[in-house]
Amino acid sequence: MSQLISSLATIVGSPNVLTGEEVTRNPKSHWDPSPLQGMAIVKPENTEEVSAILKACYAAGQSVVTHGGVTGLADGDHSTPQDIILSMVRMNRIESIDKIGQTVSVEAGCILAAIQNAAEKAGLQYGVDLGARGSCTIGGNIATNAGGLSVLRYGMTREQILGLEVVLANGTVMSSMNEILKNNAGYDLKQLFIGSEGTLGVVTKAVLRLRPSTPCINTAILAFQHFDQVTRTLEIMSHGLNGQLNAYEVMWNEFYCLGTNTNIEGTIRPPLPPHYPFYAILESQGGNEESDRELFESVLGSALEERVVEDAVVPQSERGRASIWRIRENVDIVLSHDPKYIYDVSLPINAMPGYLDGVRKALIDRWPEVAFYVYGHLADGNLHLIVAPKPSNLGSTRIKKNRHAHTEDYRICNEIIYQPLGKLHGSISAEHGIGLEKKNYMALSRNSQEVEMMRLFKQTLDPANILNPGKIV
Ligand SMILES: Cc1cc2nc3c(=O)[nH]c(=O)nc-3n(C[C@H](O)[C@H](O)[C@H](O)COP(=O)(O)OP(=O)(O)OC[C@H]3O[C@@H](n4cnc5c(N)ncnc54)[C@H](O)[C@@H]3O)c2cc1C
Repeated sequence: MSQLISSLATIVGSPNVLTGEEVTRNPKSHWDPSPLQGMAIVKPENTEEVSAILKACYAAGQSVVTHGGVTGLADGDHSTPQDIILSMVRMNRIESIDKIGQTVSVEAGCILAAIQNAAEKAGLQYGVDLGARGSCTIGGNIATNAGGLSVLRYGMTREQILGLEVVLANGTVMSSMNEILKNNAGYDLKQLFIGSEGTLGVVTKAVLRLRPSTPCINTAILAFQHFDQVTRTLEIMSHGLNGQLNAYEVMWNEFYCLGTNTNIEGTIRPPLPPHYPFYAILESQGGNEESDRELFESVLGSALEERVVEDAVVPQSERGRASIWRIRENVDIVLSHDPKYIYDVSLPINAMPGYLDGVRKALIDRWPEVAFYVYGHLADGNLHLIVAPKPSNLGSTRIKKNRHAHTEDYRICNEIIYQPLGKLHGSISAEHGIGLEKKNYMALSRNSQEVEMMRLFKQTLDPANILNPGKIV
């Protein structure tokens, strides 16, 4: 055992340092069951231990990759046999909830769903929700500035963070556990670490903003013939629902049809006929069952009367609602294509039809059989795109994410998807981050001064380049 590993074992206790097969018997990530690579997995119990670990690694010039729930989608959590993996799994305590101030203080390894449940028990709610809620950690959410299903109402993770505690590369603890809504005393340092994907510091604790609970939920799935109807309905709903619009998730035809193709295991019976080009799941949340429902039905009714919405189904039970959401959240079916390439882009909503037409044409020119799936958080200008060049291979793989990162086909597909975004002032990463996967395309979304400034921050805060080296910049 190397000198460093025994120092780390002294800090966290031997049972909390795993090496050899104890590392490789773990899957690489939620997306890839192949063996995890790393010199050791180290599991601290508190901030002091994180600080001591980083101090030791800094002195030894040892690289460190922090792991939360390993559900990330940009390969930010990728590790090599030379890296120490800092697992936040033991730092999962909810420290306190302040019902009056509407805040919760948590450790970074807390699972998102545990925070949501704790907030609910206190009669409040946490404003971020995503499909990985049962596995992802708040530290990972902060490090990736996760978005999800309610961004149009509450914003991304950044908007929920009041305070943060971070351990810097050299072990310095920067505690900024602010609980107040307003604090303009100088630079807001926490912002630097939110979305930094573990490259500038390790998040150990956070104070999150909570919101009043909105237990009365109204949901509908809608069908449209034209894209203009999709956007007009969004307009009608955001104005008509008095700020209660919580989600507006749009699915293009191919995505809807695959998720409702009952010949495939795990799909849902189609609530609406499969011939419409666009579908949307619409959800409002409020605090008064009767008046919320009346408002929802009246606004939806006027959209149907105006013929802006072609067809709609309003589920009458929680089971019906869950099955509608399954069509949107069950992306595993689309992801079982092999190979497939996954994208998370953003662009102005009115530029979407032209952008997608161009991309579709370029994909068909290259792969005439291609399957192209589009869905996402349209109200946030955020689309998820999945490209399967050989769609006949559906259901053939357990590896759910891009594992063809170095193939020529993947490179060409990246060009097709990313290049047009530069001119449209879009982004190559709406919410998943840059990690390793999108590093080569940064220049399409950030100018050279911005990238230079990022490098400067990295060099200043982590001069030995030990924190998640090679990611982002
Ligand atoms: C089914 C499913 C649905 C998803 N839906 C969405 C969605 O709607 N919106 C969205 O934004 N994402 C989504 N994701 C992606 C993913 O869940 C998010 O990126 C999430 O924030 C990652 O959290 P994690 O704990 O798994 O982080 P990890 O995957 O473990 O790590 C992600 C990055 O954060 C760093 N990191 C982790 N913890 C810390 C820490 N404590 N301090 C510093 N750095 C750290 C890692 O080094 C890595 O760079 C989805 C994933 C799945 C599986």
